[in-house]
Formats: sequence, structure tokens, C-alpha cells
Amino acid sequence: MSKHHPNNPPSGDPAPDENRMPALFAETVEQAPVAISITDDKANILYVNRAFTQVTGYAPEESIGRNESMLSDKNTPKAVYEELWSCIKAQRIWHGRLLNRHRDGRRYLADLTIAPILNDRRETTHYIGMHRDITEMYRLEQRVNQQKVLIETVVDSIPVATVLLDETDRVVLDNQMYKALSSDLGLSEPARTFIDILREDMADDWERMKQKKSGFQNREVRFDRGGHYAPRWYACAGSWFSHEDDRIEAFFQENRQIYLLLTLTDITQQKKQAEEIRVNALKALMAEEEKIQRVRETLSGAIHHIQGPINLIKAAKTMLTRRGLEPRNIALVDILDQIRLAGEQSVDHMKRCIPERNASAMTPVNLNQLLHETIMLLTDRLLATGIVVDWKPTPVLPALMGQESHLRTMFKQIVENAIEAMNQSGIVTRELRISTWSDDHLLHVSIEDTGPGIPDELRIKVFEPFFSTKNGGRAGHSGTGLTMAQEVINQHLGLIRIDPSYREGCRVRIQFNIHNTLSASERTSNHG
Ligand code: FAD
Repeated sequence: MSKHHPNNPPSGDPAPDENRMPALFAETVEQAPVAISITDDKANILYVNRAFTQVTGYAPEESIGRNESMLSDKNTPKAVYEELWSCIKAQRIWHGRLLNRHRDGRRYLADLTIAPILNDRRETTHYIGMHRDITEMYRLEQRVNQQKVLIETVVDSIPVATVLLDETDRVVLDNQMYKALSSDLGLSEPARTFIDILREDMADDWERMKQKKSGFQNREVRFDRGGHYAPRWYACAGSWFSHEDDRIEAFFQENRQIYLLLTLTDITQQKKQAEEIRVNALKALMAEEEKIQRVRETLSGAIHHIQGPINLIKAAKTMLTRRGLEPRNIALVDILDQIRLAGEQSVDHMKRCIPERNASAMTPVNLNQLLHETIMLLTDRLLATGIVVDWKPTPVLPALMGQESHLRTMFKQIVENAIEAMNQSGIVTRELRISTWSDDHLLHVSIEDTGPGIPDELRIKVFEPFFSTKNGGRAGHSGTGLTMAQEVINQHLGLIRIDPSYREGCRVRIQFNIHNTLSASERTSNHG
């Protein structure tokens, strides 16, 4: 308040505006749109404003001189008044809700603030009370809360893990099944993991569906915790919708937020049954493929062996003809030519007899699933040889575009090598450790055993055709297993190597480029 306005001449008299101030204050309180009452220190009413009369029904002449308790309703617990009084007696402001009774007898809910008014000696001389009728607001509040509880009860009783996420993937609402899923998978917010994999899987479709506020159904996600945990499968469905933003930033401008309702149905049981049927079918198929592979190896081995003598014959002919053909050697050279020709014809014939590998289609392949199937296919052998399997997959792996059957055969070959390496007398610790993981660009697989390992000087040689560390060329050691593995990995633009740093046995490291860009036809032709 300015005592000396620049336009006013300085004088000892109060400015005209200042004279009007008490009246102005009184008028302001009188016209304030909130029920105001001023009481003595016992709550006896001294003054009420216009809004007080509107809210309570009591005119000033009906209320002045009476106690505020005229408004009290017996449904307000005594403890509330006690707490109110102990607060204001301690010269603190009290704020709370009381059930009041209107002059006409109807009840209303009052949102009340009481403040003590102190004199110069800091003694409470009066109280000022300000209240509003919030009955209608409370009813709305209650209705909203009841609806919220109803929605939560309904969502909770849905027998499928259900979760609502905002645009930042923050969980806004979830149900009991989702909470159970969270502890089953050992993840604090499994929805994020599922969203990451679905987003990766659906690529551009994800954004397109989100913009259109549409949705997806029956997207299957495999979740592998490894160790003693069996893999789990979920059928995921999601639908996007937009809803008004309830953040205060959106108070003055309408803003709509996009939400995703995600449901995750556990289909592990169905998948497990299907997997058992599949593995049994695979066993039969692979037994057949193995037979064909053996024919392939036998013929390739025979060609390899015949090629040696043919080369010797060619060399002998070159020696005999180097300094001009002597007449006595003409017949010999002729015979050598005939032998060579017969040999080459046999080689050609055998080459034509080698059964061709089927060029299977390129499909998205889950390496966790392939490795798990490989372990299942070889379970009998692993048990018979007393090998403990330590299976450590990364829970969710991006898919690899590949030829499933070739990749499965390749993994099976590597695991069979490991089993054989450990199945020797003197090897006490028999552990097969298989793990998978991925980074931004690569999918990694590590298969390690506790067998005798591969000497450093043979680490590269083992990939050569017909090379075997098993002496004597026993049955089953044609030396083409790793060659085939390398071939399959090359077709998938991957890399295979024996880890030189691992000394407790043999560790095979395989990696694939996640974003391998070759088209299916290109890779199929590469394969040929
Ligand atoms: P009471 O017997 O009056 O009081 C119940 C309990 O309150 C007592 O046991 C005691 O612990 C405490 N109490 C009451 N008076 C005093 C006191 N002078 N000193 C210490 N403790 C005391 N009440 C409403 O119901 N509605 C209102 O809108 C409302 N507005 C108020 C506004 C102001 C400014 C003030 C100061 C009080 C207001 N009150 C209001 C409280 C009111 O004075 C009564 O305490 C209350 O209504 C309970 O009345 P009662 O007759 O049921 O019980």
C-alpha cells in the first residue's frame, strides 16, 4: 500500500483511498464467493458473509451469537472435532472435511479451513472459518473411484496377463495375471521385453498399426530363461487407442495420448505338445537325412581316394612324354590314358550319384528353439554318456533369416562332436554348455565341452574335408562334419571358429549377422 503516491501532495492526513480501506475489506469479505464466518475463541459466531447464508441457509440474524456447532451433524466422528480443536488451539491452521447440516435439515459435505486470529500478545482472540459445499464434487469423485475399482476388478479377473502402456512404454494399468507373469519370468516389467521383441519382429507394421490405432493378434513370442526353466510361449495381442491426456500440461490445450492394450496368453502347454510331436517327427527325418549324409560322405570319400591314383597316372604320363615319346612306351601311355579315362568316368559317375542337399526355404528362425530341439533330439545320447547340459540362452533372441533344417543339422553335428569328445575313458567332468546372446548386429552361439579339446595347430585344419582327429578313420569319422557345419554357416553369412582362449575342452563360437540382407533366392543359389 503506497502512503505517498507521486501525484498526492505530502501531508499528515491519510490519503482518501486509505480512508476507504476498512470498508473495502469488509465489502470484499462480504462478497467473497466462499462461506466465511468469524468467531470468538469459543467458536461463537460474530460475523457471517453472504455466501455463508447461501451455503448453510442461516441468515446473519439467525447465526450471530450461536456456536458453529449449530452446523454439526452427528455423523461426523467426535475425534475429528477433537483433532480440529487441538490443531487450532495450538495456533495452527486446520483444513479438512466435515459433515454439516443445512438449516433445512439436509446434509452437505463441507471443505473447511479454520485459521486462528492473534492479538499483539500472540493470543488467539478469534477464528476465521472458510468453507465450501463440495457434496457434488465428492459424489463425482466417488463415482470415478468406484468406476476405477470396477475397471480394476474386471481387468484383474481377466484370465490372461493384461497390461496397458502409454507412449513411453510406461505401465499404466495391469492385472493379477500380469503380476504373476512378472514373477514367473523373473522380470520387473516383462511388457517392455515383449514390446521390444514385437517391435523388432513387426518392423514398419508396428508404427503403421499404431498410427491407424489398429492392432495385432496371435503374435507368438518364445521366452527362454535357460537352466532348469523350460521355455515358455506367449500369444500376444495388442490394440492401440487414443485417450485424453490427463497431465496438467494438457489443461489448456486438448491433447490425446496413444495407449497400447497388450494381452499375453500363455500357450506353453500347447506349444510343448506340438514340440514333442515335432521332435519325434524330426528324429525320423534326421535319421533319414543321416543315412543320406553317410552315402554322400562315402561317395565323396571314394572320389577323394580315386582322385589320388588318377593324379599319379597323369603325372606318370607327363614324365614318360616329357622328352618325346619313345616307341616302347607308346602302348604303356595308351594303357595309362585308358586307366585315367576309366577313373575319371567313375569319378563323374560317382559325383552324379551324390544325393543333392534339399534347398529349403529361408524363413525367420529362432536359434534358441533350434538349439533346444537339438538338445531334445540328442537327450538319449546325452543321458547315456552321463553328460550334464548347461543351457544358457538369452531369454529373447531376434529371429535369423535362414534355412531351418540346415541350421539344425549343423548344430546337431557340433553337439554330436562334443558328445563324442567327452565320451572317452578318463574324462570325469562331462559338461556341455550352450549359450546364446545378441548385440546390436550379431547373434552369438557358444557350444563348449569338457573333452580333450583341439590342439592349436589343428584349429583351422579340422574344418578341411576328410580331416579327422580320430586316427584310423573309424566308422563315423569321415571328417566332413565340421566341413558341412562351415558350409552351412557360410551360406548364412556367418562365422565359425574354435575359441583359442578356452583350455578346458573345446569351445565352438558361431556368429550370424542379424540384419543379413541376402534375399532367399540369392542364398538358395549360393547353397547350390
Ligand atoms: P462439541 O461438544 O461442541 O465439541 C466436540 C469436541 O470438540 C469436544 O469434545 C472438544 O474436544 C472439542 N471442542 C469444542 N469446543 C472446544 C473449545 N472451545 N475448545 C477446545 N475444544 C473444543 N463445526 C461443524 O460441525 N461445522 C462447521 O462448519 C464448523 N465451523 C467452525 C468454524 C470455526 C471458525 C470454528 C472455530 C469451529 C467450527 N466448528 C464447526 C467446530 C464447532 O465449534 C464444534 O466444535 C463442532 O461442531 C462440534 O460440535 P458438537 O456440538 O458436536 O460438539
